[in-house]
Amino acid sequence: MYRDRSHILDTPVEYLKGVGPRRAEIFRSELDIRNFSDLLEFFPFRYVDRSKYYTVSQIRGDMPYVQIKGRISGITLHGKQRTSRMTATLSDETGSIELVWFRGFKWLKDKFRNDREYVVFGKPVPFGRSYSIAHPEIEPYEDTKTAVSSGLQPVYNSTEKLRSKGLDSRGTGKLMKTLLPLVKEHIPETLPKSVTEPLRLISRSEALQYIHFPVNNDLLQKARARLKFEELFFLQLNLLRHRQLRMEKSQGFLFTRIGNQFNEFYHQGLSFELTNAQKRVLREIRRDTLSGKQMNRLLQGDVGSGKTIVAVMSMLMALDNGFQASLMAPTEILAFQHYESVRSMLEGSGVEVALLTGTTKTGEKKRVLKGLTDGSIDIIIGTHALIEDMVEFDRLGLVVIDEQHRFGVAQRAKLWSKSDTPPHILVMTATPIPRTLAMTLYGDLDVSVIDELPPGRKPVKTIHQYDNNRLKVFGFMRKQIEQGRQVYVVYPLIQESEKLDLKDLTDGYESIVREFPAPQYNVSIVHGKMKPADKDYEMQRFVSGQTNIMVATTVIEVGIDVPNASVMVIESAERFGLSQLHQLRGRVGRGAEQSYCILMSKYELSADARKRLEVMVESNDGFRIAETDLRLRGPGDIQGTKQSGILDLKIADIAQDGQILKFARAQAKTLLNEDPHLSRPENLTVKKRIHELFRDKLFWSRIS
Ligand code: ADP
Ligand code: MG
Repeated sequence: MYRDRSHILDTPVEYLKGVGPRRAEIFRSELDIRNFSDLLEFFPFRYVDRSKYYTVSQIRGDMPYVQIKGRISGITLHGKQRTSRMTATLSDETGSIELVWFRGFKWLKDKFRNDREYVVFGKPVPFGRSYSIAHPEIEPYEDTKTAVSSGLQPVYNSTEKLRSKGLDSRGTGKLMKTLLPLVKEHIPETLPKSVTEPLRLISRSEALQYIHFPVNNDLLQKARARLKFEELFFLQLNLLRHRQLRMEKSQGFLFTRIGNQFNEFYHQGLSFELTNAQKRVLREIRRDTLSGKQMNRLLQGDVGSGKTIVAVMSMLMALDNGFQASLMAPTEILAFQHYESVRSMLEGSGVEVALLTGTTKTGEKKRVLKGLTDGSIDIIIGTHALIEDMVEFDRLGLVVIDEQHRFGVAQRAKLWSKSDTPPHILVMTATPIPRTLAMTLYGDLDVSVIDELPPGRKPVKTIHQYDNNRLKVFGFMRKQIEQGRQVYVVYPLIQESEKLDLKDLTDGYESIVREFPAPQYNVSIVHGKMKPADKDYEMQRFVSGQTNIMVATTVIEVGIDVPNASVMVIESAERFGLSQLHQLRGRVGRGAEQSYCILMSKYELSADARKRLEVMVESNDGFRIAETDLRLRGPGDIQGTKQSGILDLKIADIAQDGQILKFARAQAKTLLNEDPHLSRPENLTVKKRIHELFRDKLFWSRIS
């Protein structure tokens, strides 16, 4: 009936005995299951231990499934026809519960014998003073003793619609029982021996069998390991292959010279020694820009780790080789700050630096655009106004993007397309991403990490205070201000309740102005609803030290650099995510003085919120915080991952399976090194599989 191996797995699921067109349609619409192969890869999400028996007295309402041994009595039919149901009582030595059927019970009615023990399996729900199980699975105890099945029973996800067609966990399980014997002999191995043998992975066919019907826990774990590995392996292989293809195709400008601009800045412009991490990253960038290929590098570094200097020095490399460079920031304020600081760093060097944002005045804009086209401007700093179509460059060689996650995919793509040879790209992010996640999300980019803070930094002291201690906090702020320091007070801003938050902010502002009255104190306020000009004015007053306190929403989250600010008070800290808290804390601790971060919260906290605040108090390490964040929230919620779809994994879990992921990536790398085009006969199955899996997923369009 089936002509070759691949055919049977491609069979539409409709043709599996017990499915048919209606259920097939529901499978497709609910779970995107279309053929045998899809169904086979619909894995149980957990297992119930059928070797364990509960007594009636042990049952609690929150138990998912229980298995009880007992006698069945009191079978009763209620109502007529449509409303009818059947009930029975299950009893053991410790008590009794009700069993109930709403349909399909006629043939059951006379089946139970009262001299026999039965094993009843199902989900208990509270019913009167006891419990009830609807549509339980029932088997004579005698039979279970001889059955060969293991104790572990798979549980499949279901939905309301699936259930209405009988495709609850049990229904799906039955289909698997029909499917597996049919396809077992025809499941091709997808991994080469060079991978499975050293890692002692079981075959794909065995794994698929044991994942659905685990014979014992050991084989189940082997099946899971194999399937997780496989999933991550192909994900990594695909990413690495795209990187390789891009490298093969791409042309890159050559920055062969290290010239005057770079050297002068390095020897005279810097008022400090670069950290080893900064030096290492600069070497990595140098290597990339000498390779003849386009650089696509992600630079991760915690707040305050000194990414800006790396950006500036990379741009000077471009300049020394006759190219222009640009630096893009996600906000006007940040762009302006970068502009100011880069300009002052390069004072007197002859480097022409310009600023272009959405609010640049027409006349100035014209001048800038002309300067970019005729090459008289060397470094352009701005917001995404830079990517607008009108901007043309004479010889753009390097683009640095700060705070990468705020820029969309499309925006970056646009930048690339501006010239035949694309500029080198350096993306900087201060949101540390756990290594495992980075390997997946940015698996096709090269990643550099600045994992070292400039020397002499005192770690920010973080303190958690409940709201009722506010007066104490005010007192502390006063002391710091007396010592000449400045203070941030930040309020959450959550889109849905913007009005409420704005009220919190203005109330907060008023109470702070009362506590810190003029003329002795000056207070700035900045929030998203203000006109950009007012915002800039207020910000500027704080940056220049005219105001002591900055009351703000999270607009100040990114990048703002006021080394004299030593206190960050975060109001309603329980409402912030971990990475945001860490970002905010990064606004202080930039000078030589001891800095403080005070997390204010209400008294009643959810377990997760408490954990977040605890981690903040304990650790200053952005990577550790990111790991915790990943564990608390799962990868699906980490910034930017949702829309990417990359993390729609069937069985692997980036947060849990970091170790497997590392193996998988390493193996994928080895394989590609040995056989770059997967053309060796033993790797053809791999090639085929990758095409099957990623045929219609162009997620590498993110970067090319
Ligand atoms: P971020 O990585 O958060 O963008 P910045 O580049 O703004 O960090 O640097 C934070 C501060 O540290 C700046 O004031 C910068 O001048 C200073 N800095 C950077 N590198 C060093 C270094 N190697 N030694 C001392 N200070 C440094
Ligand atoms: Mg920065």
